[in-house]
Amino acid sequence: MNYREVTPSREFLARLEHGADWREEIEEFAAREGIESAWFTAMGAVQDAELWYYDQDDTEYRSVSFDEPLEVASCVGNVALLDGEPFAHTHVVLSRRSGQALAGHLNAATVFAGEVHLRSFDEPLEREREDVTDLDLWL
Ligand code: ZN
Repeated sequence: MNYREVTPSREFLARLEHGADWREEIEEFAAREGIESAWFTAMGAVQDAELWYYDQDDTEYRSVSFDEPLEVASCVGNVALLDGEPFAHTHVVLSRRSGQALAGHLNAATVFAGEVHLRSFDEPLEREREDVTDLDLWL
């Protein structure tokens, strides 16, 4: 296990911009505020979504896209530096009109409306490629 003690530094509530990309909005906000580590939750709705599923055998992400209005029933993520820039690792549970759930690693989604609670920490967090999983994990 790799762990560290962190000190909460700042806390934000943010409303995402209609028509913007869900993850980019969070990353641009983090860059603007100089945030190098954070944890967030969010909720709202998107107009489409591209989810990634990590194939553990092939160690590659598989993309699946949904071109339909979806509720963001739950979204949780964190911000760390990847190649020196804030990267928002974002997971979601999305729901269809029927109530059926879709879930996964969110790469992209067009915001219909979104509300975010983000808490940042004093200690920066960095990601780097890790050999066993071939994922960009925390250092
Ligand atoms: Zn993920």
